[in-house]
Amino acid sequence: MVALTVACDPQRDETFVFDEMSYTPSETVFKLFAPENAKVFVVVEGDSIEMQRKMASADSCPFYKATVEGDLKGKTYEFVVDGQSSPGVFAKAVTVNGKKGVVVDMRDTNPEGWKSDRHVWRPAQDMVVYEMHHRDFSIAREDAKYKGKFLALTEPWAIEHLSALGINAVHILPSYDYGSVDETRLDKPQYNWGYDPVNYNVPEGSYSTNPADPLCRIREFKQMVQALHKAGIAVILDVVYNHTYDIEHSNFQRTYKDYYYRRTHPQPLPNGGEKGDLGYSNGSGCGNETASEQPMMRRFMVESVKYWVNEYHVDGFRFDLMGCHDITTMNTIRQALDEINPDIFIYGEGWSAGACALPADSLGMKANIPQMPRIAAFSDDLRDALRGPFSDDTKPGWFDPKEENLKESIKAGIVGMIAHPQVDYAQVNYSKEPYALEPTQMMAYVSCHDDMCLVDRLKASIPGIQEKELIRLDLLAQTAVFTSQGVPFMLSGEELLRTKQGVHNSFESPDSINQLDWRNKERYPEVFDYYKNLIALRKAHPAFRMGKAELVRQHLEFLPTEESVVAFRLKNHAGGDAWQDIIVILNADREAQMISIPEGRYSVVCCDGKIDQQGLGEVNGNRVQVAPQSALIIHN
Ligand code: CA
Repeated sequence: MVALTVACDPQRDETFVFDEMSYTPSETVFKLFAPENAKVFVVVEGDSIEMQRKMASADSCPFYKATVEGDLKGKTYEFVVDGQSSPGVFAKAVTVNGKKGVVVDMRDTNPEGWKSDRHVWRPAQDMVVYEMHHRDFSIAREDAKYKGKFLALTEPWAIEHLSALGINAVHILPSYDYGSVDETRLDKPQYNWGYDPVNYNVPEGSYSTNPADPLCRIREFKQMVQALHKAGIAVILDVVYNHTYDIEHSNFQRTYKDYYYRRTHPQPLPNGGEKGDLGYSNGSGCGNETASEQPMMRRFMVESVKYWVNEYHVDGFRFDLMGCHDITTMNTIRQALDEINPDIFIYGEGWSAGACALPADSLGMKANIPQMPRIAAFSDDLRDALRGPFSDDTKPGWFDPKEENLKESIKAGIVGMIAHPQVDYAQVNYSKEPYALEPTQMMAYVSCHDDMCLVDRLKASIPGIQEKELIRLDLLAQTAVFTSQGVPFMLSGEELLRTKQGVHNSFESPDSINQLDWRNKERYPEVFDYYKNLIALRKAHPAFRMGKAELVRQHLEFLPTEESVVAFRLKNHAGGDAWQDIIVILNADREAQMISIPEGRYSVVCCDGKIDQQGLGEVNGNRVQVAPQSALIIHN
């Protein structure tokens, strides 16, 4: 890896923070991290002011500073470094489409009652995460006042839906300022997931009611957080520090050329010489990859997440392509957030989208999760065992009667990808060793925004599947997710039997593909009820979320079954549960199955597509029948 080095160590140099604009009514101070011998200006409403290079001490980071007297509130500014202009890398407020910075007193952006807003933090094992896109969620909702906006999540219908479903955290797809939607043309429908960051520390303008007003997006984001917090729902931000939309126009590149990106090695040739040039590495699959190991990039990430926590009261973070970031950076972020609150939840994609310029064993990959305590990674092991591999839509995974050898992957997902005496990792589909030290380091899921949603996947992999079977398998798959000792995660709309018409990568598909069809709530009430009752069952019973690997090894025991059935017992008041023993049986077979269980008298709480904690009947003896393609949950 070749990277530009700067003679400074931000670990030692506490004087520099990315406070590029700090406002008081009498003066505004501008600062910028930029190359040592650059010509740096700040241009305030057309007035160019040369910035002076500063160093706190001989080995501290060079930065440039200018103090402008007078009240600059509301004025726009740009930094110009060797002729390249940008709003800087840490703008707090911007003009439409994020082109220029705006001088702002952040106190002016606080909605009424903001001071009394409190974070929603809970231990990781208690979280139920709902991944959503602002536009998907509300654009087709007839009674929504703020369709596709942050404010939709302040509306009673939205809060009531989420509360009734019982999720307690929303993971919102990129909500920082991104580039792919033109904020000046919102009269035309435009759609993007937003994985193309422009200004990392400002909310996206198109989700506000007026992107031309720099304060509006900030205030409305905070109103959204406030409304969710009032309902006890945590807000998790999807953060995409691993790449920018492009290099040429990026604020990183325009303030400090080539500092923030990794470059590739030229490859040595056998007979001498080299092949290839010093190009930009592309581990993100998006044309570039940032260099988290660079001290100031690392510091940028740390300050950015802290800023979202402190200024916007965000409660947790999902790291896009965490496998592009180095382990040290992820642990530094964990430590910085611990100082605020250890329950700030961090998880990420434990992979990259291409080869990075750093060795894989130094990166935030799933296999390296043991080196990143209290950071979780998505389990594609469980996901693909349940619904078939990412690489082949025609394969139905565990639901294929011909498919063998997926049971261990599902069992690994049930225990939270920890070491367990009854799980043989040699037979697990991807992870040949347990990757989690604690079950809360695993995200349990069967679908997310990426790739097909569950309904589409079932349709693609089981040709001619009828609605009845589709619903059975949908509910069965989610039962595995929500009875896993990992942290359960669901894609928004799955509770409404969502379809994206078979589109995988719907990142820029129209609303007709991405929107939730709210009419499905009346069409399939049994689906919503099952999801709701399943979540309620998990929340009511600590046995399903013991949180500690040692407790899971002591209290979770698998029962012997055929390949098409996974059965486990949560025994002896697991996790302090009121119920003595709980038995969960997941039957993927098209036929009913008889399963041997420890002799006893049990109450049934989940059976054949229905869940009722008060009981659906009783079972006596040492054998129990499980209906086809469904889950049975009983307790004594
Ligand atoms: Ca934008």
